[in-house]
Amino acid sequence: MADDNKPLNFIQQTISSDLEAGVVDKVVTRFPPEPNGYLHIGHAKSICVNFGLAQQYGGDCHLRFDDTNPEKEEDEYVHAIIEDVKWLGFQWSGEVRYASDYFGQLYEWAQYLISEGKAYACELNAEQMREYRGTLTEPGKDSPYRERPVEENLALLEQMKNGEIDEGKMTLRAKIDMASPNVSLRDPVMYRVKKAAHHRTGDAWNIYPAYDFAHGQEDAIEGVTHSICTLEFASNRPLYNWFIENLPVPSTPHQYEFGRLNLNYSVTSKRKLRQLVDEGHVDGWNDPRMPTISGLRRRGVPAVAIRNFCDSLAVAKTDGMVDMSQLEHFIRDELNKHAPRAMTVLRPLKVVITNLPEDHLEQLTVPRHPDLDMGERTLPFTREIYIDVEDFKEEYSKKFKKKLAPGKRIRLRNGYVIEADDYVKDDAGAVVQVNASLIPDTLGQDPADEIKPKGVVHWVSAQHSVDCEIHLYDRLFNDPLPDAGDKNFLDAINPSSLQVLTGCKAEASLAEAETGNPYQFEREGYFCKDSKNSTSDKLVFNQTIALRSVWTDADA
Ligand code: ATP
Ligand code: MG
Repeated sequence: MADDNKPLNFIQQTISSDLEAGVVDKVVTRFPPEPNGYLHIGHAKSICVNFGLAQQYGGDCHLRFDDTNPEKEEDEYVHAIIEDVKWLGFQWSGEVRYASDYFGQLYEWAQYLISEGKAYACELNAEQMREYRGTLTEPGKDSPYRERPVEENLALLEQMKNGEIDEGKMTLRAKIDMASPNVSLRDPVMYRVKKAAHHRTGDAWNIYPAYDFAHGQEDAIEGVTHSICTLEFASNRPLYNWFIENLPVPSTPHQYEFGRLNLNYSVTSKRKLRQLVDEGHVDGWNDPRMPTISGLRRRGVPAVAIRNFCDSLAVAKTDGMVDMSQLEHFIRDELNKHAPRAMTVLRPLKVVITNLPEDHLEQLTVPRHPDLDMGERTLPFTREIYIDVEDFKEEYSKKFKKKLAPGKRIRLRNGYVIEADDYVKDDAGAVVQVNASLIPDTLGQDPADEIKPKGVVHWVSAQHSVDCEIHLYDRLFNDPLPDAGDKNFLDAINPSSLQVLTGCKAEASLAEAETGNPYQFEREGYFCKDSKNSTSDKLVFNQTIALRSVWTDADA
């Protein structure tokens, strides 16, 4: 949602003046995904812009599937996109709409253009059509089929529709101007023959409308006032307007273009994302490393962090490259404020507190969050606990003065001070157990002998913790521009972008963790329960993000 203190961007300026001048009474925008893949972070920007404008100006935003290409589209994508838009926190007005709902109307308008002498059936094949089109510097030349009589064009269109013409043999083209300096206006294709079943219209059609012939007319049917797309469509705008001006459409929409969101260390092309999925480089579209909305959700990124990130971006007339650390900043900011704290030991080392009785059980009451309004939780404290292997050193040194070492003390987070006495090693020489003593009366206070611990470590009760598996993630690519120039983006995949830790120990309360509710595991980062791999007897947590970035780019 727009921040009242921010200057208006160029689209908001246009809308404000259109409303003021009475050019429109109510703003209507739309988000028009093609159901040929899952939504990614770039789409999130478009969603926030379109739904955000409707909210800001008290208008409507439609969700319309741009399902004009039967070959690549599937219902799976439709469902996933609907879920993602809702999860991001937006509600479209009216029903979900589909370009395919308008196939009948578009066909009638094609007949109308033919009867006005403004469209014709053309038998140039794809290669000839390219030849005839000319180049940016040379005009094209007229198709030999350009002057067919109206009746013949109408009959041929019908034959195309009925499947009597083979694919690639004929197209319907608008008759505009083969010499136009704008290549889009050189008799663009309106319909192609495609004998493919459509996910909604089945076998009803053997022709499908081109984007340019469909999009503006769909906007007009729906009463869309401001049709916002990305910059690569700027040169199609005159064509968008030509169809609107030459057809008896019920309203006059206008197209505006803004810069795509490109995120470094990432790719935002559905084709490339699909390749990552199809070739098994990731665990599906919702792999937590994917820049898809569903991947970010599975990773534990809150929707509000994505919205705040999108709102922080300029809506400008140039494409921009945004630093991944900017997205990460909004994720950390949101999680730090709202994620409850918990303790999980990723690489457990047993500590036996030998001066406590075997059956010692003390329920410590500790805050859920530094913001005390979030309440308290209980933490069972017992004779045997786990701390992280990294928090114990066989020998004390200045470098590790905040760690536990023989004869040295540390404070257990939210608990007592302990001092290590000795330790046990396995045959391979790894420390497998530390024996320690509890320093009495140190809950919330310093030791009476004034020998204060230097460090605080996280821990869990051995008996009352739950086993879990932890997936640590890093950026999927280790090149800031994985698909720039002629690079193969697959070469830039970060081989250590996923690290699976098993046998981790989570505090007992995390057995009740719910997917979608993030936690801060103290000293380790932000985590959430994985929706895909967790089962009734297996708990898996995804790392959403580390507490601090280890990357050295623009991070603060
Ligand atoms: P891709 O290039 O990934 O296939 P697309 O543009 O073909 O994306 P659509 O499903 O057609 O994908 O996109 C739906 C809407 O989202 C369009 O209005 C498009 O302009 C917008 N959009 C897509 N990618 C971005 C992006 N990176 N930044 C901003 N808007 C985007
Ligand atoms: Mg598209």
